[in-house]
Amino acid sequence: MRSEVAVIGAGTAGLLAAKGLAKAGVSATVYDQKHRLGYPARASGILSIKGLESLGIDYSRALTNTLSGARLHAAGSAISIESKKPIAHVLDRPELNQLCRDEAESAGATVITGQRIGGDMLSRIHDSSIIVGADGAVSSVARHFSMGSIQRYSLTYKAEYNINAQDGMVDLFFDNSYKGLFAWLCPNSKDILEVGVGVDSRHGNGKKAFEHFIKSKEIAGIIGDSKQLSEGASTIPMSMRGSIIDERNRVLLVGDAAGQVKATTGGGIIFGGNAALMAAKAIVMHLKEGKRLSDYEKMFTRKFGLEMALHSMISKAYSGADARLLGLGLRAMRVLGIGRFLGDYGDMDMPSLMIKRFFLRGLSN
Ligand SMILES: Cc1cc2nc3c(=O)[nH]c(=O)nc-3n(C[C@H](O)[C@H](O)[C@H](O)COP(=O)(O)OP(=O)(O)OC[C@H]3O[C@@H](n4cnc5c(N)ncnc54)[C@H](O)[C@@H]3O)c2cc1C
Repeated sequence: MRSEVAVIGAGTAGLLAAKGLAKAGVSATVYDQKHRLGYPARASGILSIKGLESLGIDYSRALTNTLSGARLHAAGSAISIESKKPIAHVLDRPELNQLCRDEAESAGATVITGQRIGGDMLSRIHDSSIIVGADGAVSSVARHFSMGSIQRYSLTYKAEYNINAQDGMVDLFFDNSYKGLFAWLCPNSKDILEVGVGVDSRHGNGKKAFEHFIKSKEIAGIIGDSKQLSEGASTIPMSMRGSIIDERNRVLLVGDAAGQVKATTGGGIIFGGNAALMAAKAIVMHLKEGKRLSDYEKMFTRKFGLEMALHSMISKAYSGADARLLGLGLRAMRVLGIGRFLGDYGDMDMPSLMIKRFFLRGLSN
């Protein structure tokens, strides 16, 4: 029997949408071209604890580390933003995928792996089912239904090393002197350090940028002759797609397919996952109460529209700034006590909350 909803892509966004639908009694089938979901593991899993809670999943079995802050680096300057309490978890990505699959299937959704959905198949499914396009940054669903393009991409390259990394802080590097490079060092677990870079797809190549980054004296000193455990390239959408809903054709895009990613860091699981839950809710209301599917876009814009715009503004501001100016900016932030303020009141996902707190309290505690 044909499902009421076909979800294309079994990443976190697709599986969360399927779980939301199945829990509300709507039949959902998820298709993924991969046989082993979540592999190869090309992305990281740094997620705010608050954001993770909003997804309503039991993530404990995927947890590999907990972080209390970040150090920002630019042009030889650094600022530390440390919170008194844990603010983020690091999750094992394949395990996160697997637990989302388990939860979707327990709720009653069907997950079919090893099946790529191309144009012909999409046309056939589309005759009888609502389609949720959760098929990642290079979405076939978006292309098939002409839902516009994504203007900005980041090309990434990352590797894991067997390095003892105990301090619970992620290091973020901004280097505009090299193709707008953004890089990170993240202690994925007590003895695994992840080193990753992203560059704007218009200017650079992820692997070359990675090689440039790990050659720098500071990073070469950290990596030394430690064993490399994995490496790989991937792509992150850095702006929203032209359209995330096609009401006439009954197609909704969620996650990376929709470009629901924070432009500052490339993190997409929290926004994309919440969007998937909203899409599921809009479909349920459409099928049961005759409401419009476009309510999905309204829900997303109400909750995340301003945040997406602020992430984009911040990202454009630092990627357009001179490298030395960024270094000076960090030094000024340190002198003004902004690191401490961000540690106490910062929010990894929702910059508007931080801005509100700033205007209410100023920099003093
Ligand atoms: C290096 C890197 C680091 C990252 N770090 C973080 C981080 O720390 N925190 C964070 O929140 N986010 C991070 N992200 C972003 C995050 O990985 C993505 O936002 C998230 O995976 C998007 O989930 P998704 O379900 O939308 O898409 P995806 O995870 O891309 O899943 C799409 C699925 O669709 C399937 N598919 C594609 N086409 C078809 C087709 N035609 N037919 C059938 N199946 C298809 C694919 O096989 C895939 O399984 C990072 C990304 C990268 C690359």
